[in-house]
Amino acid sequence: MERAKVNQDISLNEYKDVWVLAETVNGKILPITLELMGEGRKLANDLGKKLVVIVPGYDIEEAAKELLEYDVDTVYYVEHELLKDFSTLGFVEVLSEEVKKRKPEVLLVGATSIGRDIGPRLAARLGTGLTADCTGLEVDAEDKKLLMTRPAFGGNIMATIICPKNRPQMATVRPGVMSRAKKAEKNNADFEKILPKLSKEDIRSKLVGTVEHDQKRVNLTDAKIIVSGGRGIKNKDGFALIESLANALGGEVGSSRACVDAGWIDSSHQVGQTGTTVRPDLYIACGISGAIQHLAGMSESKYIVAINTDKNAPIFDICDYGIVGDLKEIIPTLVSSIESGDF
Ligand code: FAD
Repeated sequence: MERAKVNQDISLNEYKDVWVLAETVNGKILPITLELMGEGRKLANDLGKKLVVIVPGYDIEEAAKELLEYDVDTVYYVEHELLKDFSTLGFVEVLSEEVKKRKPEVLLVGATSIGRDIGPRLAARLGTGLTADCTGLEVDAEDKKLLMTRPAFGGNIMATIICPKNRPQMATVRPGVMSRAKKAEKNNADFEKILPKLSKEDIRSKLVGTVEHDQKRVNLTDAKIIVSGGRGIKNKDGFALIESLANALGGEVGSSRACVDAGWIDSSHQVGQTGTTVRPDLYIACGISGAIQHLAGMSESKYIVAINTDKNAPIFDICDYGIVGDLKEIIPTLVSSIESGDF
């Protein structure tokens, strides 16, 4: 395998189109794909280029076809038996070949476990740069370069990064941040099967088995209502209160990192810069101070309600409704009002 040189002398004009790397699990397209397509469409329009989605996998035609219902110009699906199970080297091998051949200007990848694995290795193989964990993407109106924004220095500043000399301009994008693509009324997109060259020797790892996560799955990204607990709940048992409110409202349980670090709840519940980014219709922050790293993951919620004993807590600066008081008294009152239908 030959490693590409960074800063090689390339002709930027040869590169065109905005590509989205689709992700699938068990033959199903994951929501991050639609989020990247929604954002990719805007970028492609601003650049006056096409939006292309590439779907690697095996027996993947039906899943790839579903993407034709959205506003996309081309869908490539890359079929190979060795792509049935995810392997970093197998996926990077076929993707790097297609990128070299077809030369996209922009390549968007989900900042998921798989995307965070593929993205940097693919960028290194292609000799280009990658901005990881982006929360904002924009095309520079003057020089048409991609402006990739992400939190930096512990979330205290937002850094906007460009990739001026190499192509494609690559970004991983956090799930839950971008709006999903909408279905198109009609679409005449091109649909093309790619049969890549791939051998067992290209993949140096072997999948021994897969293990299902045995904990209750939490789906914060799609939740319409989230009730989150912070250090103000005092201990692990405090989550019973948070859960009671979440159940009464039909929502999910979220958490600040303080509770995850204390071992009170699994990290899959963490909201924020290093957790999940959420944008529910209603976010209730209970005993959460409102540190910038927490806000980075939930400030796009439609309505934010905060319950906190400290009237000067920063969470009150961004909430729509604030309740100053002890969550141990307020939550049971709210729950009984909801259950009795008074709310
Ligand atoms: P605290 O800041 O301790 O706040 C507890 C709040 O509870 C206080 O405001 C207090 O007034 C209130 N309270 C106390 N008792 C009660 C009561 N009985 N009733 C009501 N209110 C009460 N944090 C995240 O959440 N998510 C992240 O993804 C994240 N990523 C990070 C990444 C980096 C690089 C760094 C440096 C930090 C990150 N953090 C993250 C940590 C973040 O800086 C804060 O430390 C954390 O969010 C604080 O959690 P908290 O609000 O629960 O706790």
